[in-house]
Amino acid sequence: DEMDVDTIWMDGEYVDWDDAQIHVLTHGLHYGSGVFEGARCYDTENGPALFRWEEHVDRLYESCKPYDMEIDHEPEEITEATKTLIREQDLRSCYVRPIAFYGYKSLGVSPGDCPTRTAIACWPWGTYLGEDALENGIEVMVSSWRKHASSQIPTNAKTTGLYVNSMLAGEEARRNGYPEAIVLNKEGNVAEGPGENLFMVNDGEIYTPGLSESILDGITRDTVITLAEERGYEVHDNVSVSRGELNTADELFFTGSAAEVTPIRKVDNVTIGNGTRGPVTEELQQAYFDLVEGRTDDHEEWFTYVDMD
Ligand code: PMP
Repeated sequence: DEMDVDTIWMDGEYVDWDDAQIHVLTHGLHYGSGVFEGARCYDTENGPALFRWEEHVDRLYESCKPYDMEIDHEPEEITEATKTLIREQDLRSCYVRPIAFYGYKSLGVSPGDCPTRTAIACWPWGTYLGEDALENGIEVMVSSWRKHASSQIPTNAKTTGLYVNSMLAGEEARRNGYPEAIVLNKEGNVAEGPGENLFMVNDGEIYTPGLSESILDGITRDTVITLAEERGYEVHDNVSVSRGELNTADELFFTGSAAEVTPIRKVDNVTIGNGTRGPVTEELQQAYFDLVEGRTDDHEEWFTYVDMD
């Protein structure tokens, strides 16, 4: 098919892409009771490698906890299946989407005896917001939609149902001519993007909303914090960022497994810094790509190599 992939792993089996089907009365479809991940495999100089795969798998299982969901497969099987999909489809560099959800049995809101279904798909996926976005940055809109508070839905679990909020914010932005949104939390402080964490640079120091600001505990966020600290930056990762601070920031950027490190050059009508990718953003973005694309020997512990033979 168009994506050059033909196989999906589903509940322990490799099935043809077009046969990876579910019943229309699936619990997860009706109530958003699923959890998922988004990771990338990069074609490094030492062969294809999943970046921070262990953390993604951990988060997948952790995301199940509030929903009392049990994945009927060990993490090792999820890892082996993912490696097999990459190897057998010769996907040297790709996006990886594992998902687990309550399946079809009964349609009460209580999942009762609904089975947990699990699937993994991998496909080539270029830069999430475009090549130009990586170089020149994007213009974003502060959404009129607020993010769920963690007291309403646990925002540190990557739950399918949460993403209608991301969709509302993102589509509102795109209707207004912006490729992406910034979403405030219930208190009115900056939370994150629809599928990205947000960073701010001011006077050479780095700020990112803390975990109590109703954000996803992003793995790229953690990577970028680590890379920044290694380069001597002071990183304030447990702060509130007010909406007003966005306007006066020297630099802003998004991070995410899909979005990688994407500069933000404008928020609503306000130009950020000099309206281009800022120097700190550029340094950290370069460090990120050098790392994930395997041009350094740093953080070998973050790479899960896929043996392609
Ligand atoms: N926030 C939200 C709401 C997201 O969907 C994502 C993407 N998973 C992120 C932040 C970034 O997280 P990560 O770096 O782990 O991909």
